[in-house]
Amino acid sequence: MKNLFFIVLSINLLFANSFDYKLKPIKLSDNSYYFYGKEEYFSEKNGGNIANTAFIITKNSVILIDTGSSKEYAEQLKEAIKKITNKPIKYVINTHHHPDHFLGNNAFKDNKIYASKFTQNEISQNGDLYIMNLVNIVQKAMQGTKMEAPNVILNTKTIDLDGYKLDVLYFDGHTSSDIVLFDRKTNILYTSDLIFNKRALATPHANIKKWISSLKKLKKINYSILVPGHGKASKSKEPIKENIAYLEFLENSLINGVKNGLDIFEILSKPVPNNIKEFSMFEEEYERSIINLYPKYEQKYYSISNH
Ligand SMILES: [Zn+2]
Repeated sequence: MKNLFFIVLSINLLFANSFDYKLKPIKLSDNSYYFYGKEEYFSEKNGGNIANTAFIITKNSVILIDTGSSKEYAEQLKEAIKKITNKPIKYVINTHHHPDHFLGNNAFKDNKIYASKFTQNEISQNGDLYIMNLVNIVQKAMQGTKMEAPNVILNTKTIDLDGYKLDVLYFDGHTSSDIVLFDRKTNILYTSDLIFNKRALATPHANIKKWISSLKKLKKINYSILVPGHGKASKSKEPIKENIAYLEFLENSLINGVKNGLDIFEILSKPVPNNIKEFSMFEEEYERSIINLYPKYEQKYYSISNH
């Protein structure tokens, strides 16, 4: 009886310790899947699962694109992938340095983890800080999450992973280094956070002009499916057009606001076109973007128009 009590107790403790992400892969093609992240801000309730991750099954292995927001997420990702294939995850690619995309890295510390030089530096330097901030918000699901920097630098136009070739496209605008992957076998385009499909764009490290220019280049690619960093996968070019329109609206609001001597609150109270207001998380992200970007635009445009 006593033993049974301890068995029940330890099972309870086991479950109490792990947050259940309920990850379900969504099929894109015979060998490609993605996990859809919630269109929300980090919270205890979502365990930080707010970004998409994806994987490609090749002849002998699995390629993983981004690792999610915690070690626990990544461990559950492995289990979910195991239900689809028994091939090992050998290669991991970090698209950029935002914590919702790379904090699962320490579940893959024996693997090759690819990223650009810039992203590797940012993760090495700020990874611990990101974890500290997220532990306060996400709490339990962050248990065991440690900074693990990428260990292979991406700098070639294609990579050959066990005979499976991917085009690597080097863009910027969402951050200073945004990696896009194009799989010519399936024509699937993994855009990382250059695309937020119907979800308001996050701009803490953005350069709006560069971002728009990257999107215009992406639009020229003939893909079958686009897998965004946030929001649902899409077979059309609409998400690219909509993201360009969103960024142009954001930039015009800032430039016109500053030129007319408006403050942040006056800009935020201006009317917003319906097609932009309809993006999920619009209120929070738009406010965050205007507050963050205002000083930069004030410096650049205020002096030109008022002196
Ligand atoms: Zn991002």
